[in-house]
Amino acid sequence: MVNTQPLAGKVALITGSTSGIGLATAHVLAEQGINLALHGLLNDSDGEVLTKQFSDKYDINVYFSNADLRDAKAIELLINDATSALGNIDILINNAGIQHTERAEKFPVEKWSDIIAINLSAAFHTIQQSLPAMQKNNWGRIINIASVHGLVGSVNKSAYCAAKHGIVGLTKVVALENAEQNITVNAICPGWVDTPLIKQQIVDIAEREALSFEQAQYNLVTAKQPLPEMMKPQQIGEFILFLCSDSARAITGSSLPMDGAWTAQ
Ligand code: NAD
Repeated sequence: MVNTQPLAGKVALITGSTSGIGLATAHVLAEQGINLALHGLLNDSDGEVLTKQFSDKYDINVYFSNADLRDAKAIELLINDATSALGNIDILINNAGIQHTERAEKFPVEKWSDIIAINLSAAFHTIQQSLPAMQKNNWGRIINIASVHGLVGSVNKSAYCAAKHGIVGLTKVVALENAEQNITVNAICPGWVDTPLIKQQIVDIAEREALSFEQAQYNLVTAKQPLPEMMKPQQIGEFILFLCSDSARAITGSSLPMDGAWTAQ
């Protein structure tokens, strides 16, 4: 008989899974019976509500943490507590991220530090702490949500591009170091995805150019992305699910654009 849920019972940690791509991915993985460590900046009671929603709907084990990823000690606690609650992390999805746009000479130094900490260093810490158990089990999937800005630059995004190019490099090295074990390490490099992360950029254009939100969004998307529409967060989740499958065993060390031909130009 074909096993229709081959990943059921595995444990996935998805950072930044209270919103956008992370939340949509959590639903995709939960449907497969994967136990989830959810994470993001919600207060404890909203975190409890989210946890209950997932455990009721999918009949899986769920843990929630609102660890601030700017704090390496908090990340260590997150991994330890998630492991105590659910078991070793089999699937690690480094997804949490923030954005701030400004020319380099005006870029606030504290925003630079936050973006590097959340979008890059946090992934190093979670990987470092999750790998030993994956190596012991001879199975693991690490998926880093980079960006098209891990492959190309755009004005006003010095910190974001530096962090995302950095995570592409981190992905390659950890994949090489674990290539002989059943652990794959990949980065996904999305173009525009319809989430709260990019709202401010649309609002800024609408204000500056006196446009409707919809027109500003269309202009933003089509300025660089030939596909004239934003991706849905769930589409990223479904790609992540494929990368977790045995069929994707040979895909490792890759930075995979999902960008409506942005980087084909
Ligand atoms: P989002 O704003 O919807 O979600 C971000 C998540 O990160 C939230 O759960 C939030 O709580 C969490 N987070 C933010 N700061 C944190 C902190 N200090 N500590 C802990 N958690 C924190 O964003 P999204 O668009 O879903 O982005 C997810 C990832 O996808 C990011 O890495 C982003 O760079 C990347 N990405 C997004 C797009 C896009 O167009 N939306 C495109 C390419 C890549």
